[in-house]
Amino acid sequence: MNYVSPRYILLMCLLALHSNSYDSREKIHQKPLIYRIIDAIAQLNIIHRWSRSDSSQDGYKDQPIATALYQQIARQAYADLHIDLIHQIPVKQLPAKAQTELAQSDDHIVLGLVRRNSLYINEQALNKITYGYKRGTMYHECVHAKYADPFMKQNNVKNISSLAASCITHKVLSSVINITSDTLIQPHVDITEDEYKKIRFLYSHAISIIIAQLAGFFTRKYIDKTYHNYRERRADVESLYALQCSRCIEEMCGIRVNVNNLQYKKPCNLYTSGSSYLSRIEKLHIAYDLKMQNKLCEHHTLKTV
Ligand SMILES: [Zn+2]
Ligand SMILES: [Zn+2]
Repeated sequence: MNYVSPRYILLMCLLALHSNSYDSREKIHQKPLIYRIIDAIAQLNIIHRWSRSDSSQDGYKDQPIATALYQQIARQAYADLHIDLIHQIPVKQLPAKAQTELAQSDDHIVLGLVRRNSLYINEQALNKITYGYKRGTMYHECVHAKYADPFMKQNNVKNISSLAASCITHKVLSSVINITSDTLIQPHVDITEDEYKKIRFLYSHAISIIIAQLAGFFTRKYIDKTYHNYRERRADVESLYALQCSRCIEEMCGIRVNVNNLQYKKPCNLYTSGSSYLSRIEKLHIAYDLKMQNKLCEHHTLKTV
């Protein structure tokens, strides 16, 4: 056979295309750099120790430990998410009063939440939903525990950001006011250099401090919202991949993913959206990815044999 003939090359290309094994898209979902840095800091032992040192604000801390099924899912989640023993927090039962205290609307059911020292789950509600949904919920909350989210979100990220924004605004604005004043005002006033500098110091600082405060306030509000959206999106992306089961995600979404549907074939970065939580279609993108790799958990493998 002539190995350089066009027909042979075409045959090899077709074979290569056909036998092309499916690669996971997990690496396509790239977190923005700033959040990668924050996440790296959040995973330090010192942050977790600091976070757990204060449980005074947790009114649910004396709740009983979760039942065996949920303990077992949590153990599996901690292992699958590579969460060190020192970063793991106990899983406890969410009290009934949490529903009225925390629900954002009448039809919103609180399934789980993470606080500095414990992960709480609503067992009554979880008992009524599918195994995949239970597992997905537990894994989602465990991702919040992995990054010490209750501690990081409380004040640290937004306080540091708003302080930085205030300082930069103050520095830049006072320099601009000084330069503008020296050019436009100083030549036209009949006072000594020292007197002029004292007056310039006063109005330059007064104006820049007020505007720096405003910059800090709006930065804080903006960071609060965008960091919240990122945390929820990250908890969804990382937990759904850690499930390593397309069927679990399908059960969470209440729909089977159709691998021939063109909308799932095109890869996308799930961190590019600014909204919180993945939409059902975005979750099914991950289900598609896992389905193409034939990924099923132990529970669903047993169900299919
Ligand atoms: Zn969450
Ligand atoms: Zn499963």
